[in-house]
Amino acid sequence: TSQVEQLEFQAETRQLLDLMIHSVYSEKDIFLRELVSNASDALDKLRLEAFQNKELAVDTSDLHIDIDIDKEARTLTVRDNGIGMSRDEVVDLIGTLAKSGTADLRRKLAEAKDSAAPEELIGQFGIGFYSSFIAADKVTLVTRRAGETEATRWESEGEGTYTIETLDEAPQGTSVTLHLKPADTEDHLYDYTAPTKIKQIIKRYSDFIAFPIRMEVEITKPADDESEEVTRQIETETINSMKALWTRSKSDVSDEEYKEFYKHVSHAWDEPLEIIPLKAEGTFEYQALLFIPSQAPYDMFMREAKRGVQLYVKRVFIMDDCEELMPEYLRFVKGVVDAQDLSLNVSREILQQDRQLKLIQRRLVKKILSTVKDMQANNAEKYTTFWSQFGRVLKEGLLSDFDNRDAILGVSSFASTNSTEDQTSLAEYVARMPETQEQIYYVTGESRQLIESSPHMEAFRARGLEVLLLTDPVDEMWVGSVPEFDGKPFQSIAKGEVDLDSEEEKKAAEAEREEQSKEFAELLTWMTSTLSETVKEVRLSSRLVDSPACIVSDEFGFSPTLEKMYRASGQ
Ligand code: ADP
Ligand code: MG
Repeated sequence: TSQVEQLEFQAETRQLLDLMIHSVYSEKDIFLRELVSNASDALDKLRLEAFQNKELAVDTSDLHIDIDIDKEARTLTVRDNGIGMSRDEVVDLIGTLAKSGTADLRRKLAEAKDSAAPEELIGQFGIGFYSSFIAADKVTLVTRRAGETEATRWESEGEGTYTIETLDEAPQGTSVTLHLKPADTEDHLYDYTAPTKIKQIIKRYSDFIAFPIRMEVEITKPADDESEEVTRQIETETINSMKALWTRSKSDVSDEEYKEFYKHVSHAWDEPLEIIPLKAEGTFEYQALLFIPSQAPYDMFMREAKRGVQLYVKRVFIMDDCEELMPEYLRFVKGVVDAQDLSLNVSREILQQDRQLKLIQRRLVKKILSTVKDMQANNAEKYTTFWSQFGRVLKEGLLSDFDNRDAILGVSSFASTNSTEDQTSLAEYVARMPETQEQIYYVTGESRQLIESSPHMEAFRARGLEVLLLTDPVDEMWVGSVPEFDGKPFQSIAKGEVDLDSEEEKKAAEAEREEQSKEFAELLTWMTSTLSETVKEVRLSSRLVDSPACIVSDEFGFSPTLEKMYRASGQ
């Protein structure tokens, strides 16, 4: 005697569902990929929990995913015997969109209403479970969490509300039943009640899934050798090959397979920009398959919800986002590392101490940086995409990864006064430096426009000296702590005395300045005392061409931007 409760979707979820149902998303088949991917995750979680919690009495000897087709009822069911969900989890995970509530999503949804690009939005946010509504006009989910007796039934037509109900019993795990939209008789391409169609989708998107994906198929056989008669038999067939992609050699795996695997591990819908398989043999064996995405996730600068590199031990999933494998500044890298010699019982605490993992991390970092370097040298277009998506994050490494600082500087690009469109590498900047120039000039600020109109720029412009224009917040942080590139120190044009002239010019200028100082001595003293509240000193400057005055900081003081940042944060 349980009660059926009706609940409402969150506003964002409702909007998203609305998009999903009404958009003509061209890749309809992907809903099955998403459901199978979730089932596979649930099986991974169960296997792990069973390892770690011996009290949990569950059978993990036959973990699988079943697909059932009911032609008459026009339903398609994906069932797993994985971890399942408690009622609260259903409400939390399914009833509300896991990644919602963010300002960014809300903003994008508002924009999407007017624009014609819902597909892009769907792709960008990777709408997993909800993609069911691409194919279904009603979805029923029944689930029981491992270790619990009560089960939960969830149902929705995707129109703003869902019902939830507690059941006395159900098999452990989760089944998702799609009540398929009316058949489009003209279009057999989308007949999801056809076993061949389902097989084809699974093969294409989910072949590498490590658990058997099974389906009942009808087999017809001749009854015996002589007669024409045939017998029909129902057999259970495993559709996928189940081979872990990272264990196969690169030449055996198609690009298509790598791409689908990327989507599964990253929970993303974009294409990978780079695919990096890697193997270590010897005393400490491991295999890795890493991906650099082509699109930054919307939450790259948010604390929660990050998924980086998964750790496996001998094919068994151990954890998502293994921090020990990838430093923070490479958090956009996705993929798996499968280590042979770790215990399956590893905890986060143990991992933090593990020397071997540190060695793996070092190698992975080097490999990624060298991949970016290759991109930069050999594929400008790819590199530009990479840098525009991930440059801001990568530069964080200049503050934290001293060993690889030069490598990071090497693959970095910056806006500069040399070009209004193209960014420059530091090597290119240095190559353009006139012989007499000894420093790399830069200026930080909020935008190129603001910086370029700053009076600090005048003398440099007048002398044709190139200045790097650093506008990312992180630039302000690293540029003060990284001493040099290629033996050339970084010099802010807004700090201290910038020496722009040759010896002769300097002597002449000094003489002139002395002259002028005498001439303006009274004015300068008067200004210094009048402005004593706000400035330390008023002096004559040689750096201005058109502007009458500018404010500079001490050599060791804060730059104007940093000062602004501190002031804004109330310090
Ligand atoms: P994602 O897989 O990216 O987390 P989804 O929308 O696909 O997003 O799924 C949301 C959440 O619902 C999952 O993270 C998981 O916790 C839960 N979930 C979905 N399907 C299943 C399932 N078959 N078994 C257990 N939990 C599931
Ligand atoms: Mg999912």
